Amino acid sequence: SKQQGGNQYQFYSAVLSIGSLDRVALQTSLHYALERQELQVYYQPKVNLTTGQIMGAEALLRWYHPERGIISPGRFIPIAEETGLIIPIGEWVLQTACQQLKQLHNIGFYSLQIAVNISARQFTQVDFRQKLVKILNTTNLHPQFLELELTESMLVQNTEVAIRRLNALKALGLTIAIDDFGTGYSSLSYLQQFPFDILKIDQCFIRNISENSHNAAITKAIIEMAKKMELKIIAEGVETKEELEFVCQNQCDMMQGYIFSQPLSAKEFKELLISGKSL
Ligand code: C2E
Ligand code: CA
Ligand code: CA
Ligand code: CA
Repeated sequence: SKQQGGNQYQFYSAVLSIGSLDRVALQTSLHYALERQELQVYYQPKVNLTTGQIMGAEALLRWYHPERGIISPGRFIPIAEETGLIIPIGEWVLQTACQQLKQLHNIGFYSLQIAVNISARQFTQVDFRQKLVKILNTTNLHPQFLELELTESMLVQNTEVAIRRLNALKALGLTIAIDDFGTGYSSLSYLQQFPFDILKIDQCFIRNISENSHNAAITKAIIEMAKKMELKIIAEGVETKEELEFVCQNQCDMMQGYIFSQPLSAKEFKELLISGKSL
């Protein structure tokens, strides 16, 4: 058994070192990903549930690695955050998304909005607001068309500073959404002190909502409180007809999910808009 223990340890450490080697390799190639143009911004349509029309999209990063193929953001965003690479990458996403949105405005989709995910490292930079202003100026995009998606975990550590930062951003005229709502530790009443405009219900609550009465109850409670706080509500990860019915009946304002569309390349998104597809 002593020997078994030894073998187990060896096996475990081998797995660990493969894991960390892979991490270092990814880290190195992520470094070059930006300049080698391996990164792309994809767009997942957001649909207004009252009109059924596409009202905007969420910008989602994709990495086409020359040897490994597509690497999901769930795998490389944490590495980018740890190494600080998220700062140049995040700026590039903002710049690209604003630029591509402006092109869509120019061909007639002039009320379309874009939502961009912002990581904690970006948000806490002292000159983040300044960088944002520069991007809005160079792309000639009015701030009312830009929405920033933030998660609660990045706001609850230094509440006062976070509130001040958010107010300074909102003063520019852009919109703030709280993403992945319900997965963190804070209550909605606690979050009331933050100046959000939009609440995104996390997809884990939407999943199997017709069979899972627990999820349905939580979602209804979140919607009710968000309405009282006069927040717009978006349901994400809507995959089935039943889930769509639920979010419509329970007065969500917008939806996003595979039942309408997966995230699309800029070209595919433009084609979808031109096709006039609605819910
Ligand atoms: P998120 O912000 O919560 O984004 C929503 C995720 O749900 C996306 O995964 C999207 O493709 C996926 N999704 C949308 N509808 C459905 C559906 O109906 N069913 C299912 N199963 N999934 C759906 P994705 O693109 O893999 O992104 C994962 C996460 O990576 C994002 O979660 C976000 O936290 C992060 N991320 C992506 N792009 C960026 C970025 O540019 N900057 C930063 N900081 N984070 C990003
Ligand atoms: Ca998001
Ligand atoms: Ca989310
Ligand atoms: Ca998420």
